[in-house]
Amino acid sequence: MEWKHDPSSSIAADELTNSQFFHGHKCPAMPQGLRAGHLAMDLLGVERARGGGELQAIVEIGDHHFSGCFADGVQFATGCTFGKGNIHKEPLGKFALTLVDAKTSRAVRVSARYERMSQCLAMPFFTERQRGVPPFALDPEVVEPLIADVMTRPWPEMFTVATFEQYPLPSVAEAFTAVQCTDCGEMVVTPYARELDGHRYCATCFGARAFRGRSETQAERPR
Ligand SMILES: [Zn+2]
Ligand SMILES: [Zn+2]
Repeated sequence: MEWKHDPSSSIAADELTNSQFFHGHKCPAMPQGLRAGHLAMDLLGVERARGGGELQAIVEIGDHHFSGCFADGVQFATGCTFGKGNIHKEPLGKFALTLVDAKTSRAVRVSARYERMSQCLAMPFFTERQRGVPPFALDPEVVEPLIADVMTRPWPEMFTVATFEQYPLPSVAEAFTAVQCTDCGEMVVTPYARELDGHRYCATCFGARAFRGRSETQAERPR
């Protein structure tokens, strides 16, 4: 199968607006994720995921760092979302997305170019953010031109791309059964339930029982 070498990566204005509503503020990293998602879908020749196991996304952002908003753009563009469970976070502190087509096992990894990212880091958007100004409180004149740049810049200046003909992807069956926890009475999906003396527990109550058992043993030990 041929790779599509001329991806259009065109994103409609209302997709940007709707994704900004979903994301909660205007910033350059979320649209960068939109572009990365569309680029990966274009190269794979796939449609946005509807939750039938068609696509799997892996994002490499970590926690508590600049431009983590990238992942929200990826979710909006690809339809791979936290709730559907078809996105996985590999916390490497990198701005990269791997999108896997489950049907063909082909994958595309889109990674933000160091040169462009480091230029952006020196711009007022990021220097102001570093001073503690929240993104929604920034002057639109600081934010809007950067977003326009992210939306229109030719993708080869923004991203490097790697393709995989056979990407290893474990297939996990979706669970449709659940049990009631003996202690708290809440529902817990069966693969997450723990069993003790013929009773089933959620992990929290199971852990509490194990902890109670341990402290009694420790109290008895000195005697
Ligand atoms: Zn953001
Ligand atoms: Zn419980």
